[in-house]
Formats: sequence, C-alpha cells, structure tokens
Amino acid sequence: MLPLVFVYTWVNTYRGARLMRTTARQNWQLAELRRTDSQTGLHSRDHWIERATQALQSLQSADRPACLLLIDIDHFKSVNDHFGHTVGDEVISAVGKVILASVRSEDSAGRYGGDEFAVLVSQADVRTARAIAERIRTQIEQLRFSSAPQLRLSSSIGLAVALPEHAALRDWINAADVALYRAKDLGRNRVAEAA
Ligand code: GH3
Ligand code: MG
Repeated sequence: MLPLVFVYTWVNTYRGARLMRTTARQNWQLAELRRTDSQTGLHSRDHWIERATQALQSLQSADRPACLLLIDIDHFKSVNDHFGHTVGDEVISAVGKVILASVRSEDSAGRYGGDEFAVLVSQADVRTARAIAERIRTQIEQLRFSSAPQLRLSSSIGLAVALPEHAALRDWINAADVALYRAKDLGRNRVAEAA
C-alpha cells in the first residue's frame, strides 16, 4: 500500500510541475505575440512605444544622440483600391521586412499603425539616421511583387533628432510627424528633417 501511495504522489508532483512549465511557456508565447506585429515581424505599436519611452529616458540622462524616423507608404489606399487588399497586405509585410533589414540591432523598429512605421535610431546623429532613412526609402522603391508586376511603391519619411525639450515620447513623435507631413507636402518619396 505504502509504495502505491508513494508512486501516486510522485506522479502527481511530476504532472503538476509539467503543467506549470507548459503554462509558463504558453504565457511567454502569448506575451511575445502581443509584442510582435504578426504581419511584419516588427514590434507592435504598444511594445514599440514602451521601448521608445525607456530609450528616450535613458538617452536623455546619458546625453546620447538618437533620431526618430516615421515612415509612411505613399498613396497606399490606392494600392488597395487598384490591386486589392491581399496585395496591400503583401506590401505591408514586404515594407516591414525592408525596415527590419535596414536597421541595426541597437535600433527599435515598430509598426506604428496601418501603413505607418516608426524606427528609433540609437547612437546616431542626423547624418547616420538620414543614411538609414534613404536606404529604407530606396529599397521600398525597388520592391516588386509577382502578384502585381506593375506595382511601384514609394514612401515618405519624417526624421527628428531627440532634443532636450522632448520631455515625453509624444513630443518627439510629433516633431517626426510634422517632418513626415512636410515630406508629403513637398511631393512625397523623400526624407524630410524636423526644423
Ligand atoms: P498618403 O500618401 O497621404 O500616405 O495616403 P495613403 O493612401 O497612404 O494614406 P491613407 O491614410 O489615406 O490610407 C491608408 C490605408 O491603408 C487605409 C487603410 O484601409 C489601409 N490599411 C491600413 N492597414 C492595412 C493593412 O494591414 N492591410 C491593407 N491591405 N490595408 C491597410
Ligand atoms: Mg500612407
């Protein structure tokens, strides 16, 4: 009888531990899913905001340079209208891959929403950030799609250097947003810097 009780207890303990490990793994996978935008593999908006907020605080306290890029696909609505939403989805995914491949491991790239993407370029002056932005812009121009061979894309990019007066992330984002809209106003397919 005693060995049976022992075996029963041991089996239950083992099962309990296994269940806890499985639950922990599933919770981690769920958190990872929330952190990642499934269409692009970039950080999700919320996770990018979290990371960028922390980065802004630490770079300001250490007086390190950094730049913010806001990237928006030009006339993306007409891509959906002319080629369909499936091609539109392919475009979002391909642009995400271009951005991911163009940034360095210390940078942080996220899907900010719809056809808009945000990149925090750390340890970078305007020249370095502009070179990264131009690389992204050029590569988006060169994208081709077998499902829509005539499709040509371009993007507009707003660039803002982190300044001491950017007390909160939204101030920095606003500066990049103003630059992005200037890029659109100037005729799109270009990088514009915040004044
Ligand atoms: P602009 O040159 O000024 O940026 O114009 P736009 O057409 O790119 O911008 P607008 O904001 O008018 O349209 C963006 C569209 O993107 C609207 C929305 O339906 C579409 N969109 C947003 N997310 C997705 C997505 O994941 N897949 C697809 N297919 N479309 C999306
Ligand atoms: Mg757009």
